[in-house]
Order: sequence, then structure tokens, then C-alpha cells
Amino acid sequence: MKYCTKCVQPDTRPNIYFNEEGVCGGCLWKEKMETTIDWNQRQKELNEIVVETKRKAKKRGTPYECAIGVSGGKDSTFQALYARDVLGLRPLLVNCEPGNISEIGLKNIENLKNLGFDTIALRANSIVQKKLIKRDFYDNLNPGRTTEYVLYAVTYIIAQKFDIPLIIQGENVGLTFGDSKSELGTGDDALIANKHNTLIEGIEPFIKEGLVEEDDMFLFHYDANKLREMDIRGIWMNYYVKEYSFQHNLLFSLKNGLTIRSKDRNLDNLGTYNRYSQLDGSGDLLEVNQMMKHVKFGFGQATDHVNYDIRYGLISRAEGIALIKTFDGKCGNKYIKNFCEYIDISEKEFWDVTNSFRGDMWELDDNGDWKLKNPLWEQEPPSDLDLKEIIAKTDIAAKVGK
Ligand SMILES: [Zn+2]
Repeated sequence: MKYCTKCVQPDTRPNIYFNEEGVCGGCLWKEKMETTIDWNQRQKELNEIVVETKRKAKKRGTPYECAIGVSGGKDSTFQALYARDVLGLRPLLVNCEPGNISEIGLKNIENLKNLGFDTIALRANSIVQKKLIKRDFYDNLNPGRTTEYVLYAVTYIIAQKFDIPLIIQGENVGLTFGDSKSELGTGDDALIANKHNTLIEGIEPFIKEGLVEEDDMFLFHYDANKLREMDIRGIWMNYYVKEYSFQHNLLFSLKNGLTIRSKDRNLDNLGTYNRYSQLDGSGDLLEVNQMMKHVKFGFGQATDHVNYDIRYGLISRAEGIALIKTFDGKCGNKYIKNFCEYIDISEKEFWDVTNSFRGDMWELDDNGDWKLKNPLWEQEPPSDLDLKEIIAKTDIAAKVGK
């Protein structure tokens, strides 16, 4: 595997872009953010969108001016409050309820509702969802994929139903992960969210296979053309708002009642070191899915978080390497057990299928264990670093007493 020379982004990430100097699209975006983007101009454009949106809403007689998908986590809390308090819009919040919400997730969505918004919650049929999860485990080792379908689609569906002129999405990962050179990686148009890697396959394969009926999949997709016809616009907030970042949104949301994982969480179970990403999801599926990403592509959730933290200047690249060496791909056995129970397979079956997807960046060592070939920490061994100290550097919540 080759890695970005600035962060720890590997070249095995699907659709990743690197320039001639070996710098990844994510780092290039960060540089662009700080140098060439005219944020005042973008703010102006955003203000024009707000004026236009208000005009449209009034004309249509709809009480809601924008629809925002929310989980109650750090990003959606920021989005909702920014839209209402800074942009002066009247939002309808759309919550896609996870099947098995965590205690922290429940607290956070309640917190956001109590900050004073109209909210609508939708949850996909759990039996249908389970079928899709099991199918995707066998078919592409990405069982969490269709939960993201719903997560995105519900906001667009509700905007269409209520004729809400603007949809505000948070982060275009095409920009921040440097996933793509295409229109996804450059523009503000959030109606094309369904062209993202995870969503692009759509619902047709499931219906063709006879696994489910089309009407079972209503909440799993949206019709971008119909929205355009109705003159409904979708924008990415991180295209317009300079301060939008992992770290900024966290600090902002902590001030507004966000709950995060405790400092004494069990780090051996988690594929990352940070306390505040994806707080609402059911731990089992999330952790298992991230571990599977590691099996397929040779990197896991810690890599994503390290990349944010390096670009934000919290840690050095060497410190990031120490973190991914320790955390990437870790997944507590309890999560695997629960997942096996959920889709009703044995743990042997689980590992047989999982290992059949192992990417060619893996090899078996002398003990018969899987090991990455020439990973970054062998290419550039981090010298004598204290892991606890590094984690403390990234823990900006602790720095504000949380
Ligand atoms: Zn990079």
C-alpha cells in the first residue's frame, strides 16, 4: 500500500485521488480551504440561497424553509442551530432512527429536539433491513451499506412530501475524504448524494434478486430528478461554511448539550481512539462494518480519524502512524458475536466469508495470522511514542472539561 505523504490516507480507498507529489485529495481540500477558496464570496452566495429559499417557501405556503437530516450528533446539532440561528431559516429536522439506538444516541437526539425544533422521525422496516444487511454481508462484505441509504434518503423524501425548498446536508465526503475527482468532489449540489460510492448501486439489485419488493424499499432511495422538477435544492454545508469541521462541530455541540463517550471507554473493543464519532449507531453493526473495511481495503476507522486530526494540526503524522498501528481494524468479539446472532450465522461462517474478501494487501504470517504487507508503520516506524499522550492531544473535548 502507498500512503499520502501528508496524512495516512492509503491508496486502497475506493476512488481516492492523489496528485503528482503523492498528496491525497483530502489534504488538497484542506489546503484549498485555507488558501484559494474565497469564503466571503461563498457566504454571499449562501445568503442569496437563503433569500431565494424564503421567497420560494412563502410562495408555496410551506411552513418549513429547509429540511435537515439529524442524528443529534456533533455535525447535525451544528447544522440545525446554524441554519436556524445564523441563517434565520425555519427548519424541519428529519431523524432516521437507527434500529438499535445507543443510550448516548438517544440522549443526543432528545437534546437536539429540546433545543426547539419540529422533528419528524422515520425508521425502515427492521425485517426488510435485516434481509438487506445479511445479503450485503455475503455479497460485498459491507453490511451497513443500506442503513446509509435510509439515512440519506429520508431527508429528501420528506422535503419532497412537504415541498420544502432547501435541503441542507452536512459534509460532502467527496470533498473531505478526497474520494473523487468528479462533480462530487467539487460542487455544492447535495441532490447528487446518491452518486456517492456507498449509495450509487441503488435499490434495483435487491428487487431484481427478488429479495424484497419495490414498495419495501420506499425509504431507501429518493428521486433527485423529481426534486429538481419541484425546484427543491440541496446543498452541502461544508461547501459554504468555513468553520465546518469534525473538531469545530464537536466543540460547538458540546456547548449545546452533546453527550460523548466516556473517557474510560474500553479502547480494546473499538477500531478508533476518538470519543465522538457516530454516537447514535448500534455499536455492533458499526464496529463490525469498520473492521470489514479494514479486511477489504487494509485501513479502518482510526485512519479516517487520524487524517482529520493531522489536518487539523492536533497530531503529527508520526503520531498518527502510532495510532493506526494500534487501533485500525480492532473490533471487540462481543460485536462480532452480536452480529452473528443478528443475521443468524455461526462465527465460523462469519470468518470464512469475511476472509474470502481479504484484499491482496494481506498475507499470512508464520503463526497463520493475517498481517498487512508492508504497512505504513513498517515503512516509517514511529519511534518511542506514548500512546496515551497522543490520544490526549486529540481529545479536544477533555480540553474543555468534558
Ligand atoms: Zn492526505
